[in-house]
Amino acid sequence: MPRELFIYNTLTREKEKFEPLVPGHVGLYVCGPTVYGDPHLGHARPGVVYDVFVRLLRDLGYKVRYVRNITDVGHLENDSDSGEDKIGRKARLEELEPMEVVQYYTIRYHQAMASLNTLPPSIEPRASGHITEQIAMIQQILDAGMAYHVNGSVYFDVEKYNRTNRYGILSGRVLEDLLANTRELEGQGEKRFPFDFALWKKASPEHIMRWPSPWSEGFPGWHLECSVMSSKYLGQVFDIHGGGMDLLFPHHECELAQNTVTRGKDSVRYWMHNNLITINGQKMGKSLDNFITLEALFNGTHPLLTQSFHPMTIRFFILQAHYRGTLDFSNEALLAAGKGLKRLLQARRAADALPVSEEAAVSPTIRETEEKIYQALCDDMNTPIALAALFDLVTWINTASDAARPVSPADKNLIEKIYNRVVDGILGLKEESDHNQLPLIEGLVNMVLEFRNQARAVKNWAESDRIRDRLSGLGIRIKDSKEGTRWEL
Ligand code: ZN
Repeated sequence: MPRELFIYNTLTREKEKFEPLVPGHVGLYVCGPTVYGDPHLGHARPGVVYDVFVRLLRDLGYKVRYVRNITDVGHLENDSDSGEDKIGRKARLEELEPMEVVQYYTIRYHQAMASLNTLPPSIEPRASGHITEQIAMIQQILDAGMAYHVNGSVYFDVEKYNRTNRYGILSGRVLEDLLANTRELEGQGEKRFPFDFALWKKASPEHIMRWPSPWSEGFPGWHLECSVMSSKYLGQVFDIHGGGMDLLFPHHECELAQNTVTRGKDSVRYWMHNNLITINGQKMGKSLDNFITLEALFNGTHPLLTQSFHPMTIRFFILQAHYRGTLDFSNEALLAAGKGLKRLLQARRAADALPVSEEAAVSPTIRETEEKIYQALCDDMNTPIALAALFDLVTWINTASDAARPVSPADKNLIEKIYNRVVDGILGLKEESDHNQLPLIEGLVNMVLEFRNQARAVKNWAESDRIRDRLSGLGIRIKDSKEGTRWEL
């Protein structure tokens, strides 16, 4: 039986004991990126948060199906139902096919996520690959009388839905209040009601991405894809739906309404939302001077930064805050995070080097630390508390190391297990390899191998072996074969 796990459910606003639909299995759907620009800090947080969540679930013994979508159609500017498609706009400006934009930024996103040491999802469906299913769902909503067709577009009838359900149940909004506060009553165009949202939009003549449908040649509304793809891969009802707080309204609220109309109830059993990031106390925005792409962060090229930051520092920094709390990025905070991570990883090497005693017992401190870490992680994934417990362990190791105090083999084993399972396995924190230096290292190793080949050509085996051993001492292993010499770090 896995350890009890508690997660905060946005819908009930309570921390709940997690009980999967099928024992031992977890279905998790997370809203992924709209791929029209370089991955930025806003992508890093959900990327890392749900990665740690998946790693934790797997460590607890669950088999996880992690679905994270790619939005490649239907996400219009300002998240509204009018305006240009975000990808279409980029394609127009760059004179590219929309799918070239999608391909380019999907690869960039994958590279950034890999740098942050996040594991790929089990399935990564694209909205444009599920048009048929989206059309079928629109038809279901029309058949249920909760949508209407006007001029080739189809809209969800929020006002009618709200008579028998509560639109706003997830985000805690009340439709009447929303209406009282809205100033956009003009400009609702074809909609009967300002909060109705598009399920299908008729394409204007210049709109490139378009598909035939019973209503018009057009494209699906943004909220629809997640209702469709989550149920396709995880079932009509599934365990957990995650995403950023910015998606809570209207995106997830609309998803919930679509699910409810087509399935009689919401598909999602636990809704999880990570909080957003700020930069020097301000919301990050393209219009402000604080929009930081991950590349600029890794290279240190942004004016707000004094240096480059390794992806592991970013990952560690994100985990220092609870996922539901705000997280403020600043150059100073990142510098401090870099030091913290170094200290955590250095202690592992210090522990390896500790002399071994004859004693058999495990120190209670270390056992308690392990327990504290798991308790924190199973309490709504409280990574800051888990890290605090890890740093208590770091202090224990450093004290033993400074005094050259021998520790029992069992102590050493347990420390190693904690580092393997928690630091590597769940938190996904690894040594900061000098990613910027890789081309340089490659060049230098290849040069040294040329010298070795020259020695081999004149049958100077002593010299050739000496070079091989010196490289090996630096952690570079070389393999000779008929095809030549290969090497790896
Ligand atoms: Zn979504």
